[in-house]
Amino acid sequence: MEIKIERAKTLKEKPDFNNLGFGKYFTDHMFVMDFSEEKGWHDARIVPFGYIPIHPASTVLHYGTEIFEGMKAYKTADGYQMFRPEENFKRMNDSAERLCLPELDVNETIDALVKLINIDYDWIPDKPGTSLYIRPFMFGNDESLGVHAVHNATFVIILSPVGNYYAEGLAPVKITIEDRDVRAVRGGTGYAKCGGNYAASLRAGKLAAARGFSQVLWLDGVDRKYIEEVGSMNVMFYINGTVVTPKLTGSVLPGITRKSIIQILKDWGYKVEERLLSVDELMSAAEDGSLSEAWGTGTAAVVSPIGRLYYEGKDLTVSNNQIGELTQKLYDELTGIQWGRVPDTRNWCYKVKLK
Ligand SMILES: *Cc1c(COP(=O)(O)O)cnc(C)c1O
Repeated sequence: MEIKIERAKTLKEKPDFNNLGFGKYFTDHMFVMDFSEEKGWHDARIVPFGYIPIHPASTVLHYGTEIFEGMKAYKTADGYQMFRPEENFKRMNDSAERLCLPELDVNETIDALVKLINIDYDWIPDKPGTSLYIRPFMFGNDESLGVHAVHNATFVIILSPVGNYYAEGLAPVKITIEDRDVRAVRGGTGYAKCGGNYAASLRAGKLAAARGFSQVLWLDGVDRKYIEEVGSMNVMFYINGTVVTPKLTGSVLPGITRKSIIQILKDWGYKVEERLLSVDELMSAAEDGSLSEAWGTGTAAVVSPIGRLYYEGKDLTVSNNQIGELTQKLYDELTGIQWGRVPDTRNWCYKVKLK
């Protein structure tokens, strides 16, 4: 892939790396390339960060043809490292296939990402718990209102320095189990990382927040009975000495954090079951004490302990609303690998040396 590079004439002032929040600041450059049926992917370019001109009839504005990824780069002593980036771009291709968007060459896209980060390297924050969040996204960009598979698309990567998710330390969250809205259904787009899934999830999230909950636990859309995900994270339950996590039925997003945690647990000798878990089984386990810990997994928070579960009038405490021992151990292990404090024995980190 040939990449044209146009450098920003003036560089922006960096924000305070001690106070970044999430997704509020963007680096000086972005990567953009276009797709057409005649030319394939073309005009790969790194340009100053800025607005993207868009035709008012562009497919994405009307029919929601958009997919994205979320990953992080962590500063190291001699450069930086990313966590399993090839997994993200492989998943992006699965999402693309579902939404009739064009697929990417995984290795060439990682090379393009590395070129972009190298240019904006000074934006990778170095404070404890901070990282450079990477947001690749793609959208259908036909300039016509006809409804059909996408013929033109645009792929973009933007970068955002982000703060420590747990500025006040790892904290258990209060969850409500949603019994009205569903996020996704089997046969739909649940396994794809697409903007539309998020659009469908916002109402329940908003109403839950108004009732004092930080996340919604989703049930499956067919039987409204089986646990799927928590907010925009996968979810795991430590029940009677076994870690149970919903299996990938098609409406659950196949998280890379999920996959990595399952691997770590198995390497440590824990029993892990990927299966259907009904809300009734979960609530009885919470009630009789056989549920000892529960946590969400995802790139943003890595591991997020669950302290309370609410469902149809029942409000139950998990792990005494404290961080469970296994939850903490998993958080320390995975963040340790990502920040380079723990040996990367599984070769998960993609290391870039600049010095
Ligand atoms: C991205 C995402 C996850 C977590 O995936 P990771 O690869 O671990 O970051 C889980 N659920 C949903 C709905 C997501 O969009």
